[in-house]
Amino acid sequence: MLRKVLIANRGEIALRIIRACKELGIETVAIYSEADTNSLHTKFADEAVCIGPASPLLSYLAIPRIISACEITGVEAVHPGYGFLAENPKFAEICKENGFKFIGPTSSSILAAGDKVNAREIARKSGIPIIPGGTVSNESFKEVSQIAKNIGYPVIIKAAMGGGGRGMRIVDNQKKLKKLLSIARQEAKVAFGNDKVYIEKYLENPRHIEVQILADEHNNIVWLGERECSIQRRHQKLIEESPSPAVTPEMREKIGAYAVAVTKAINYRSAGTVEFLLDKDKNFYFLEMNTRIQVEHPVTEMVTRIDIVKEQLKIASGEKLSFKQKDVNIKGHAIECRINAEDPNNGFRPSPGQIKGLYIPGGPGIRVETHIYGEYEVPSNYDSLIAKLIAYDETRDKCIARLERALNEFLVEGIHTTIPFHLEIIKDERFKNGELNTGFIKQ
Ligand code: ADP
Repeated sequence: MLRKVLIANRGEIALRIIRACKELGIETVAIYSEADTNSLHTKFADEAVCIGPASPLLSYLAIPRIISACEITGVEAVHPGYGFLAENPKFAEICKENGFKFIGPTSSSILAAGDKVNAREIARKSGIPIIPGGTVSNESFKEVSQIAKNIGYPVIIKAAMGGGGRGMRIVDNQKKLKKLLSIARQEAKVAFGNDKVYIEKYLENPRHIEVQILADEHNNIVWLGERECSIQRRHQKLIEESPSPAVTPEMREKIGAYAVAVTKAINYRSAGTVEFLLDKDKNFYFLEMNTRIQVEHPVTEMVTRIDIVKEQLKIASGEKLSFKQKDVNIKGHAIECRINAEDPNNGFRPSPGQIKGLYIPGGPGIRVETHIYGEYEVPSNYDSLIAKLIAYDETRDKCIARLERALNEFLVEGIHTTIPFHLEIIKDERFKNGELNTGFIKQ
């Protein structure tokens, strides 16, 4: 087993990883920016190193500073969490070159999945349906409009290197194509350093369904059922659950096999997620593969009783998966709400500041992943996620009742949060009936 790990992240996911390490007897090193001096991950880790000022470019994204911290503290491995450098193939490569194990896939797998045009092609070659579309980088505008015409409006323009729900433009008719294409290219260039974009058919109100996989370094792959993440705002997930109310056992077997095929095709190891869209006629289409631990991993942990972060650490230690596909047994239902420091009554404007009063819910079947505490100052420099509330129970109905009870108990004073918004969603009849789609919030 690994002896000492540096966690190249902050917030709730840094705590989550530190906790898994502690339970496995692994020493931990936190890194932090000047804005995070009072953050819990600096206190829970065995050691903590300040690596720079608040700006992510000078701290959590500053590869040379992180490598120096690894050297000074003598760690063996680096866990990148999600966001920041988690899907940066250069970072994975530099860790390796400097003798630090990157807890995740190889840089070539990250690269293969990270270019979504390439990932689409891999999926297609593996026999998985992809959304009709094509690459538009080098073609003339005439050719681009021909691709769009062929697939039929509405279409969606997406950044090949995109992520986080950003850099997407929906085009509903030919007239708007030229302008939106040039905007999308510019946005992609600024946000992802690459103006490569592609066009897909825009599916009307599909469901977002994804499959969690685990792969070790000995060619063993298992998949841990599916998650539904259709409750989204601006293409960003807000509520996730497992299992999906829309997926039958037959459908589950089908996407499980799809996910394993993609995992094999890119020679993947560690934890990863293969994402699909499900249309009204129950057709699945490959969307993309995420090569990291995801925010929503706890719902899968609750229904499978498998600790995905511990599995990542064991895989990185060279261990074989200790269980087989037939041992994965989905039981009960889990739902996660992402609680953000944002004001839902004011356009979801970020709401940083000091927490004046705090009560974190508990009781049977409730799990809270958070780095906040009373008097904690939520900095304005980072993502607004401050907590994940996960409810677990035998059935979906019971799980929703438990979630509602816990959301009502959750008290965060001094800043605005999305807790009231979550309550509104889960009380909606359509949500209760499992009638979900990615346009739910808009509707
Ligand atoms: P990102 O990597 O930025 O999260 P994804 O490709 O995973 O981007 O898509 C995120 C979300 O955007 C999806 O869950 C879905 O809601 C929406 N989306 C993406 N592509 C399509 C499409 N072709 N049709 C309809 N919705 C789409």
